[in-house]
Amino acid sequence: MLKGKTALVTGSTSGIGLGIAQALAQQGAHLILNGFGDAASALAQIQALGVKAVHHPADMSKPSEIEAMMAFAQQHGGVDILVNNAGIQHVALVEDFPVDKWDAIIAINLSSAFHTTRLAMPTMRQRNWGRVLNIASTHGLVASPQKSAYVTAKHGLVGFTKSVALETATTGITVNAICPGWVLTPLVQKQIDDRARNEGISVEKAKTDLLAEKQPSLQFTTPEELGGLAVFLCSPQANNVRGAAWNVDGGWVAQ
Ligand code: NAD
Repeated sequence: MLKGKTALVTGSTSGIGLGIAQALAQQGAHLILNGFGDAASALAQIQALGVKAVHHPADMSKPSEIEAMMAFAQQHGGVDILVNNAGIQHVALVEDFPVDKWDAIIAINLSSAFHTTRLAMPTMRQRNWGRVLNIASTHGLVASPQKSAYVTAKHGLVGFTKSVALETATTGITVNAICPGWVLTPLVQKQIDDRARNEGISVEKAKTDLLAEKQPSLQFTTPEELGGLAVFLCSPQANNVRGAAWNVDGGWVAQ
């Protein structure tokens, strides 16, 4: 379905980004990967699906590096599908929140999507086709304590999604957000490990408690499920899905 298209997925060396990259590659899209994890392993997993894949190591907190990555992407076919996925987390009360962590979360989880989108848009407009998928979170729709920077960035990303979806509403470019609940990736494993240590409980108990607190299904969302939704949003059937913030959260925000 996506043969001949090129997808750029930020933060795709692990977790959700890698899952989405795999799902797009299974549909024939060529991939531009990014992220600080094991790039060789991620590239091998994508190339095994029979598509071309390259990696760019840009730091999503640095606009000049994002510009270099987008110029690199232009040399590799231009970006038809842009998945803004790179993200980090830090948990602290607002009065204790380290200023450098706040700045990094806003830069990586929010501003990077502005930079990639503004630089991808001219080619998408020229081709009159494009897909922008912003990986927000349930925290783009509702809040939790001690996550002020993350909740701010993700609510901002949902707002950004809606605004750019309106700017492109009469074109072949669609812009949507995906809002996962808990997904068991390195980002969440760290929160589970911290919880187990702080509360003196086992990692298994911390995992169950984490789910029970927010996610009524008591099941983690998987990168494969998110990949399936990404493929749908890239399909012609989703031509009129615009500015959506689609939760995949086991019922979290239905409560
Ligand atoms: P992860 O830690 O497995 O992956 C994050 C990716 O981003 C990695 O490839 C990492 O190298 C990359 N990255 C981090 N900082 C970067 C930077 N400065 N520049 C470039 N790349 C950078 O985490 P994940 O859980 O797969 O998270 C992916 C996205 O999904 C994030 O935006 C996160 O907020 C969002 N999300 C995650 C969950 C969850 O439960 N795991 C839930 C909702 C939303």
